[in-house]
Amino acid sequence: MVQPLGNLFIVAAPSGAGKSSLINALLESAPEQGLLNPPELSVSHTTRAPREGEVNGVHYNFVTVEEFKLMIQQDAFYEYAEVFGNYYGTSKAAISDKLDLGIDVFLDIDWQGARQIKAVSPDVISIFILPPSIAILEERLVGRGKDSTEVIAKRMSQAKSEMSHAGEFDYILINDNFDETLKRFSCIVVDKSLTAEKQRTRNAALLETLY
Ligand code: 5GP
Repeated sequence: MVQPLGNLFIVAAPSGAGKSSLINALLESAPEQGLLNPPELSVSHTTRAPREGEVNGVHYNFVTVEEFKLMIQQDAFYEYAEVFGNYYGTSKAAISDKLDLGIDVFLDIDWQGARQIKAVSPDVISIFILPPSIAILEERLVGRGKDSTEVIAKRMSQAKSEMSHAGEFDYILINDNFDETLKRFSCIVVDKSLTAEKQRTRNAALLETLY
């Protein structure tokens, strides 16, 4: 079977590791980072309430528990999981079409979703982003302001539980320096677009004249 030109990437991290900033920076600077395929971030469905500034259809598709359960019954999800008391899921719609069009798709999902997708799509590339230390992770969570000591303690224990799955991923990035980590992140993405198989799909006519 011919592989689609685009690659599917899973990016997971504990809250505070810098995942969203790294993904957004990569999407915004794709040509400068040398990416061959245009990347897009998949928009998940969730039953959690929108946070301040979050826009329906942009950050998440916000749905009710009933709507989410209906989508499960309709087999509309590529994967879904309950994360910290709310449902989150990646819908099947659009992912494979985008990959066929040569668009790299990023999934910002947790380790449970990563496992489900690996089981059905072995070609998926999974990346886990870690903070440089527990102390720095805690500093970043405290630095966000607002949250009480109990909330911070809960987030730290959730972060440790998420990080205990880092070894299941194909790549691990330690986000000690944002710009360096962004470069390393883009190296992985570029590398995966240059395999002989991808090049055969992308440059079929040219390669025919060369070998
Ligand atoms: P948050 O509520 O902070 O946006 O996300 C909480 C967690 O849910 C994060 O670890 C995030 O990666 C994960 N998450 C977001 N969307 C999905 C999804 O579609 N599927 C799964 N399995 N996890 C998701």
